[in-house]
Amino acid sequence: MTATIIDGKAIAAGLREKTARAVAAMGAAPGLAVVLVGDDPASQIYVRNKGVAAKTAGICSVEHRLPADTPEAAVVALVRRLNADDTIDGILVQMPLPAHIDAALVINEIDPGKDVDGLTETNAGRLVLGKKGLEPCTPRGAVMLIKSVQPAIAGLNAVVVGRSILVGKPLALMLLAENCTVTTAHSKTADLAHVCRAADILCAAAGRAALVKGDWVKAGAIVIDVGINRQGDRLLGDVDFEAARARARAITPVPGGVGPMTIACLLRNTALAAARRRGLPEPSL
Ligand code: NAD
Repeated sequence: MTATIIDGKAIAAGLREKTARAVAAMGAAPGLAVVLVGDDPASQIYVRNKGVAAKTAGICSVEHRLPADTPEAAVVALVRRLNADDTIDGILVQMPLPAHIDAALVINEIDPGKDVDGLTETNAGRLVLGKKGLEPCTPRGAVMLIKSVQPAIAGLNAVVVGRSILVGKPLALMLLAENCTVTTAHSKTADLAHVCRAADILCAAAGRAALVKGDWVKAGAIVIDVGINRQGDRLLGDVDFEAARARARAITPVPGGVGPMTIACLLRNTALAAARRRGLPEPSL
């Protein structure tokens, strides 16, 4: 079997277009505030890309760039101002923050209704409880890619490698909400290969290049590679792509798989947040 390559770029483009149409129907453009503290080069690129994507979708994106030595209290004060600003529907604080700032404290200052990264305790709690909230973008994008291959996934065995707050844990919860039988594997898992071999849906989010070997992939599995590992000027996923491709039914490439979905889901969350805040009918995105 040679796997279908899941075209994350094309699927993300479709979601961005749908979001742009939903935004256009809202009348006034939703506002997205992006806060960047310091001059981390990768973060600068992410923030620029998010800003460009937002504008393309008709979202009014405002960047707040603060110097690396900005006191924690000043970042909190900015978040509180943005919470109170009625023109702002979504607030994103770009991670990582400089070491002297408590990221969890800053995140929890964000109004949960504007928390388009889905990282506040309120939104994480809603995800656990199966209530409507704003969800983390990368795992939601990963689930959309899985469902692009197989819309009905109830009853399938899903294995998520990684248990981070940003990706692994929320992805496991989302797959549970889809009625998959979910196993969360992590750095202390005994016999990871054995666990992975049981997966109908195998999601790798460990941040270890080519951790998942071809013979860990069950024949006919759907493989979602969230990992982004820089080796020189190359980007590698967490899955040994060529070997896994020979066994899987469908697989995401790196780059061009989950990555583009993350930004598209940020725009989706901004549109959802705006609709809810304004009491408009919620777009189906
Ligand atoms: P993280 O470092 O916070 O978490 C990694 C997780 O993987 C941990 O739970 C750890 O237990 C597990 N892990 C580490 N080594 C392991 C091993 N050898 N075996 C089994 N489990 C292991 O990372 P993160 O923020 O969750 O990100 C994971 C990867 O996804 C990174 O490569 C990151 O760059 C990438 N990422 C991609 C996107 C995107 O848009 N595509 C977004 C966020 C993160």
